[in-house]
Formats: sequence, C-alpha cells, structure tokens
Amino acid sequence: GMEDKDKIAKKVNKGNNGGGILTSKLFSDLYISDLTAKAIREMNYTHLTESMPNLMLGNDVLGSAKTGSGKTLAFLIPAIELLHKACFMPRNGTGVIVVCPTRELAIQTHNVAKELMKYHSQTLAYVIGGTNMRNEANQLVKGINLLVATPGRLLDHLRNTTSFNYKRLKCLIIDEADRILEQNFEEDMKQIFKRLPRDRQTVLFSATQTQKVVEFANFTFGQNEERQRKLVY
Ligand code: ADP
Ligand code: MG
Repeated sequence: GMEDKDKIAKKVNKGNNGGGILTSKLFSDLYISDLTAKAIREMNYTHLTESMPNLMLGNDVLGSAKTGSGKTLAFLIPAIELLHKACFMPRNGTGVIVVCPTRELAIQTHNVAKELMKYHSQTLAYVIGGTNMRNEANQLVKGINLLVATPGRLLDHLRNTTSFNYKRLKCLIIDEADRILEQNFEEDMKQIFKRLPRDRQTVLFSATQTQKVVEFANFTFGQNEERQRKLVY
C-alpha cells in the first residue's frame, strides 16, 4: 500500500542527497527470470525506482539520474538477465563488464550483483587497483561472467592477463561516468574501448549530464554504428 511505499521511499532516500523516488510499478510486473525475482524479493525491494529504463533491448544508453535514485539495480538487473538468457557458462568468459570510478564503488556494486545473482549459475568477481594482480588473474582464468572493475586495473588485465577471455563481451556498463571523467580516466577508457569487442551494448550512467559526459557517450556509442542510441532523463 501507499504507507509501505512511503517507508521504502524514505529508505531509498536515506544517506543520499536528494534521493530516489519510487514509482508505483512493481518488480513483480517485470519480465525477469524467477531466479532474479526471488533474489529481489529477499532483498526486500518491491517498487521500481524511476531510474529503471528499459535496457533489455540492447540499446546504447546514457542514463542520468540523481544520486540515490537506484541506478545500480537499473543496470545490474538487465545485465544479469542478459547473461542468464544467453546461458553464459564460466568457459564463455566475461559477458558483462561494469566500470566504476573507485575501488569502494566497485566492491559495493559487486556485492549488490552477488545478492542479485544468488540463484543464478553465472560467475562474478571484481578487479581493483591496489590488490594483487596475480590473484585476480587466477580468478579470471576460471571464467568470470560479470566483472566489476576500476578503469586502470581493467586496462592492466586487458593488456597483461592472457587468460582473461572477453571475446564474447555483450555489454559494457560505465557507472558514474562523470566521476570517471573527473578522475582523468578518459585516456584509460579510450584504451579500454580499443580492446573490447565492438559489437556490444554500451550503457553509461551519470549523476549529472554534462557536455563532457555527453561527448564521452557519443564517442563510445560511435564505435558500434548500427545500434540505437538513447539519451534519457
Ligand atoms: P544511485 O546509484 O542512483 O545513487 P543506488 O543504486 O546506490 O543509487 O541506490 C540507493 C539506495 O537505494 C541503496 O541503498 C539501495 O539499496 C536503495 N534502493 C535502490 N533501489 C531500490 C528499490 N527499488 N526499493 C527500495 N530501495 C532501493
Ligand atoms: Mg550509483
């Protein structure tokens, strides 16, 4: 009921500046796998936030919505569904990469993905700076279907970890694109784009939609001409 929704809205807003607004739409009305739906129920999420665009179609998207508006689920749920529908197995390697501007965000995002993937068979891990490259390489060799990474370390593995299989990458997600640009990761990102398969979906999320972010999005989208582009919000 309405009361529950208010309570949840408060929870979404908690600790964030501005906060997310829940819609009247329910997760239970989404066409998603039972495996994901069950995990979402256990996480006690009922209503969608307003930042759940339809990413299932494979469009390239630049989504901007304010901090606390639930962007993490907005990109993770479609990414997990994609891996599930394509029946990704460890031997297929990495199908989705999520790039985050900081180590903390990468770990947080990985933890949310881990909860959402509780009932799925697909594998996940994160690679971040300041940790042992070889330990991460030993994980990558096993086949990591969903990989969360910071830009510098991702580039390092793309260059140096020969067992890192990303030939079947379907979707690249760039979270907090504005912060990635602020932290001078633009050149690393360009080097990353050069190495990844072109025939993939690219999704960018950003709290603010600055000119720089829009240019960056257009640059990444420009790598796969045939896809639809969308700038939302
Ligand atoms: P953003 O990335 O847009 O800043 P997050 O994805 O980090 O927002 O979500 C902000 C907070 O809202 C998190 O604590 C998350 O657990 C909570 N949250 C996200 N989506 C929902 C939802 N549909 N219902 C209730 N809480 C949610
Ligand atoms: Mg976020």
